[in-house]
Amino acid sequence: MTTSISPTKNNKVSSKPLTKSNYYDRWTDDIYLSPTVYKRYQACEAEALAEQAGQWAQMDATALLVGNYLHSYFESPAAHEAFIEEHKDELKSSRKPYKLLKPYQQAEMMIKTLDEDETFQQFYQGDKEVIVTGKIEGVPWKGKIDCLNLDNNYFIDLKTTRDLHMKYWDTDEHKYVPFVTKYNYQLQMAVYRELIKQTFGIDCTPYIVGVTKQDPPDKAVLSIPDEQLGWALDDVKAGQQHILDVMHGNVEPTRCEQCDYCRSTKTLGDITSIEDLIS
Ligand SMILES: [Zn+2]
Repeated sequence: MTTSISPTKNNKVSSKPLTKSNYYDRWTDDIYLSPTVYKRYQACEAEALAEQAGQWAQMDATALLVGNYLHSYFESPAAHEAFIEEHKDELKSSRKPYKLLKPYQQAEMMIKTLDEDETFQQFYQGDKEVIVTGKIEGVPWKGKIDCLNLDNNYFIDLKTTRDLHMKYWDTDEHKYVPFVTKYNYQLQMAVYRELIKQTFGIDCTPYIVGVTKQDPPDKAVLSIPDEQLGWALDDVKAGQQHILDVMHGNVEPTRCEQCDYCRSTKTLGDITSIEDLIS
């Protein structure tokens, strides 16, 4: 039997329910792990901890807005209108003729390429922005599903990326990997599948709809081999306790020494051999 462990320091799960309006509030990260936060700790524990403490902002605000611009469009016309109204000063130039700024013109192109695609139109059907929660070996997790189709047992996550075919060098595996692996989206999909199963009792197949920031944009529906989803969930089960320990101050965070945060807080110490500069 597994015992209930909350990521909170006081080990209490809040009775306040998660909603669309509070899903991204900082307090929710003290209660639930999420793929976003988990991956941040995997990338650099020191940076993730500083970010959670409100001492550091990692996120590129424009990239986040571009993502939300696209997501709100495919959520509903009302959601998109509300998003544009809320961010109207950030989306358009401050001088006449008040044109949409370049990153959002690009978002418009990405929207158009999907919107005009018949397969996408038929495929992207279901409930939008569905919040799911559950426990993985006793630890509470949360997730938000872009498009959940329980009638046909699948869900979709929309991802914007530079180039679908870009290769990234994986220093652990010593091979090139695609953007999905580089950003560990298979972990996000594995967790979402598990949370959907716990919430609705239905085993759904995950798909990623990737759309690129190229002109014209590229697009693809991507599947993840079951085996990789299984490994990703095993990784979570094996790694989540360490991340909770770092979060709660039981273990010192490891610095990656390469991210923006580590570089900005670095002090010269040991001498580095040139053989250790790249791995
Ligand atoms: Zn770092």
